[in-house]
Amino acid sequence: MEHPLSIYNTLTRKKEQFVPLHEPHVGMYVCGPTVYGDAHLGHARPAITFDLLFRYLKHLGYKVRYVRNITDVGHLEHDADQGEDKIAKKARLEQLEPMEIVQFYLNRYHQAMEALNVLPPSIEPHASGHIIEQIELVQNILDNGFAYESEGSVYFDVEKYNSQHNYGVLSGRNIEDMLNTTRALDGQDEKHNSIDFALWKCAQPEHIMRWPSPWSNGFPGWHCECTAMGKKYLGNHFDIHGGGMDLIFPHHECEIAQAVASQGDDMVHYWMHNNMITINGQKMGKSLGNFITLEQFFNGSHESLAQAYSPMTIRFFILQAQYRSTVDFSNEALQASEKGLSRLMEAYGHLQKLQPSDTTTVEVQGLRGKCYEAMNDDLNSPIVISHLFDAARAINSVKDGKGSISTGDLKELKELFQIFLFDIMGMKNEAAAAGNSYETFGKALDLLLSIRQQAKVNKDWATSDKIRNELTALGFEIKDTKDGAEWKLSK
Ligand code: ZN
Repeated sequence: MEHPLSIYNTLTRKKEQFVPLHEPHVGMYVCGPTVYGDAHLGHARPAITFDLLFRYLKHLGYKVRYVRNITDVGHLEHDADQGEDKIAKKARLEQLEPMEIVQFYLNRYHQAMEALNVLPPSIEPHASGHIIEQIELVQNILDNGFAYESEGSVYFDVEKYNSQHNYGVLSGRNIEDMLNTTRALDGQDEKHNSIDFALWKCAQPEHIMRWPSPWSNGFPGWHCECTAMGKKYLGNHFDIHGGGMDLIFPHHECEIAQAVASQGDDMVHYWMHNNMITINGQKMGKSLGNFITLEQFFNGSHESLAQAYSPMTIRFFILQAQYRSTVDFSNEALQASEKGLSRLMEAYGHLQKLQPSDTTTVEVQGLRGKCYEAMNDDLNSPIVISHLFDAARAINSVKDGKGSISTGDLKELKELFQIFLFDIMGMKNEAAAAGNSYETFGKALDLLLSIRQQAKVNKDWATSDKIRNELTALGFEIKDTKDGAEWKLSK
């Protein structure tokens, strides 16, 4: 098969033609959420970026196995060396099972992702369900001499590794600089060197999530889970590993080191990273106080928001930037996205009603090719969107009688919207969906009233009164007419 897609590989720092290792199969691993709180706008970007890639790879005919992990109990947010596990802390404070907290936030994460029309991954493994695989990884690294045990914990020996391989190959960081800039150890540290990272941590007495291991009762270091689960579900070598740019160092750098130290080479062919969402130029995060959850965006309940923004507005806003550029949040930018999206959806609505002519006088030629060209150029979604706006302009001028379009070109435009706006970019027509559900609701009411009419004909007054009284109690006004009944909402 042909391989038209080029993607930017963070490892080689250039755009490369994407050729899978075992075509037509593609293995793709993306670092998923840490489930100890509600998903915020920062979670939406990697989810939507890799959803775009997942959808496009499938559209091109690849068979994709998409693994997105859940970082749950037993792990710290960023550093297994400091502080209490956030889920464990919440469990202790609220007297809940840690897994209750994980499940609660995971359910909410799934709801938010579904609202954003993010397709579920093929496999969603939990870190806590793969402790055996992580212990095996740590043991391999120990056996190969790239780790050491200290007080029941196991640390990766970065300096030793770097003497034979390159620690910094992904991030471009220089280990000498890191050694010079990290503060000197105060002598109490279990680590030989401050840049060594934990592969296994001996649990402190207050740590409630712990598993037995050859070294201690404890828990794996954060970086282990992705290496162990990627290997388990995608094999020793797979195509794509993705995540946010903030994961390049230390997380993904450590993953490469773990893979090389355990099996002799990196597992990943293409490393892909989406850029961050900023608020007034600052990274979004709880610590900066500029933290707005997706739910708050959807219902407009955060003080920084001028209004509620629908899930599709958020999705469109994110796709209006190429995934490697930054996106800066503001109400103005989101309002512009909302307007732009409704212009496209209105044009799509007009498109269904246009009458074809013998000739086409509007500019619609070559739009499909241009959209493919943009997608193949490292998923350039804003360029695809600009071509869809060109299509919308053509549709509007035919609608206004300023141009004409042939049957063939009309069909072409319908396909263009279906393929690029709906299938690949994953947009949904929210207004039409709401309209459809109102229509369905109306049909259900009409059905109830026709059953009541039949009951009256049968002199079944109990049933006919029951339907009328209960609908009235629910707030409907029922008016009997010559040939049946009409309803309206009395509010
Ligand atoms: Zn990861």
